Amino acid sequence: MARIINGKEIAAEIRAEVASDAVLLKNDGIVPHLSVILVGENPASQVYVKSKTKACQEAGISSETILYPKDCAEETVLNKVRELNSFPNVHGILVQLPLPNHIDEQKVIETINPDKDIDGFHPVNMGKLASGMTDGYVSCTPAGIIELFIRSGITIEGKRVVIVGRSNIVGKPVGLLLLRKGPFADATVTFCHSRTKDLTGIVKQADIIIAAVGRPHTITKDMVRKGAVIIDVGMNRIEDNSRKRGYRLAGDVDFAEVESIASAITPVPGGVGPMTIAMLLKNTITAATRLTGKE
Ligand code: NDP
Repeated sequence: MARIINGKEIAAEIRAEVASDAVLLKNDGIVPHLSVILVGENPASQVYVKSKTKACQEAGISSETILYPKDCAEETVLNKVRELNSFPNVHGILVQLPLPNHIDEQKVIETINPDKDIDGFHPVNMGKLASGMTDGYVSCTPAGIIELFIRSGITIEGKRVVIVGRSNIVGKPVGLLLLRKGPFADATVTFCHSRTKDLTGIVKQADIIIAAVGRPHTITKDMVRKGAVIIDVGMNRIEDNSRKRGYRLAGDVDFAEVESIASAITPVPGGVGPMTIAMLLKNTITAATRLTGKE
């Protein structure tokens, strides 16, 4: 049976470290602060923002959520970002995605000061990651996946990693991190996507599979080599009337089928999800430290 990689426990460890760092900053008169912009009433986004701000509070990071109605003008959001860029007491800016269709997400991301872009989506930060520079911000889910490897003693060097998914927020950046030179990197990375031919044959060669697809049960038993490590990023809401909230969360991997073949696997929930929030807190502390010259 596969070892369960307990993201909840590892995230709690990181959150405790972040809380100690926040105390050190406060002793220096600095209150780390994250500003979150939420446009519209997407229920999943509302849940994510609530968990992020609650986590900030628990870690001693001050946070605010700026709410706009779904029909708010693009310029209003851009102006708010510009204003937050100019406030010295704001260290991190997060615009919760997705934005309504009439707002150009890329334009909003590019308006955020890269030094406050704790989500790591700005082209400057993406570029730094692609160039192997370490002074940028790395998006939280990919950074969280690397921490899972580090803290659960899974070596990456020389391993064949297959990533299913090539989005800018998960697939691409996690691949770039694993491709870097140095400790907890140096992997041989393959990216797969919706146009990949023979997905099963490619995934089956992997020592480590990272599934970031957004489609439940994409990774099945026949795709997994004996002893592979599986990281399941998927967070799919499946209708379930037996649950109070009317749905349950499922990953992209058929957990029940592959559990007996893999050597280690992240569960959903309780795997990658908690790590994303922990890394957001960590990035906010890093931003507060750098922006105030306390590094
Ligand atoms: P995107 O929709 O942006 O990307 C999905 C990727 O999967 C695309 O590259 C797409 O290919 C590929 N894909 C879709 N269908 C197939 C298929 N049948 N076979 C192979 N590849 C396929 O999703 P995200 O990267 O934003 O998110 C992926 C999942 O991770 C979602 O479930 C999301 O909810 C979850 N997530 C979880 C987080 C967490 O904290 N746990 C954080 C962020 C995301 P193509 O490029 O060709 O379209």
